[in-house]
Parts: sequence; C-alpha cells; structure tokens
Amino acid sequence: MMKFCSNCNAVFDGHKWGYDKGLYEKIIKKEDVKSGLCPGCERVEKKMVDGVVLIKGDFLKDHKDEALNLIHNIAEKKRKKNVAARVFKMRETSEGFSIETTDQALAELIGKEFERAFSGKLDIQWLEGESFVRVNWERD
Ligand SMILES: [Zn+2]
Repeated sequence: MMKFCSNCNAVFDGHKWGYDKGLYEKIIKKEDVKSGLCPGCERVEKKMVDGVVLIKGDFLKDHKDEALNLIHNIAEKKRKKNVAARVFKMRETSEGFSIETTDQALAELIGKEFERAFSGKLDIQWLEGESFVRVNWERD
C-alpha cells in the first residue's frame, strides 16, 4: 500500500519510506493513495527527542558558518537515508549550539562528523536503560 507524507513529501512504496520526486508526483495523482505523516514528521509532531548534541567552544566564534553548514549537511544526508531521523530543534546557546534530534544515530553522527572535520573533544554518553544519547563536542 503506497502512501505519502503531506508535510515533507516523503513516499512510502509499500516497503519503506524515502524521498523520490518522480514517485511522489506519480502517486499524488492517484485517488486511492492515502496521505499522512511519515515516521519523521510524526516524531517531530510528537516531540520524540532521542538525542541532544551540545557543540561548544571558542573555535565556533570564527567558524560558525562552517559549523552550521556541517550540521545541515549531516542532517540532510541522514534524512534521505532514514526519514525518521530529524533535527527536532536547533538553537544557539551562549557557548555554541544545542541540537535536539529524533534519532540517536543522528545525534551520534553529528558529534563524530564534528570530530572528523574539526578535531576537538568528543564525548558520547548513552544513558543507561534509556534510548537517549547525549553528545558533547568541544573545541577551544
Ligand atoms: Zn514527512
């Protein structure tokens, strides 16, 4: 059964959700295809936050745009692989950025990609017994 997300235009082909513009344009014309929220938009709607990343340090003062671009690129790439992995909320803090994600793997990935791109210090804490991850990255 095919479906599509009325919010982000993701399509469900009967097996998995993904982004396929051609398929989307084809199925929205069919009368018997249902729309609804994809797993990603549903997680955002229900405020299902599974991870938080804190990015901080003096390094960011001169590299703010690079850092923001990196976050956006990682989030976009990950969303295309897994529609449920989203940045729920991102805000600037006094020391850098705080990024809440609907997916633990996305939070972990942001930390790892920061370490790979800019070195710095990475700390990943899996909260025991909970499906929540805290990721801290810092560079002065
Ligand atoms: Zn969606």
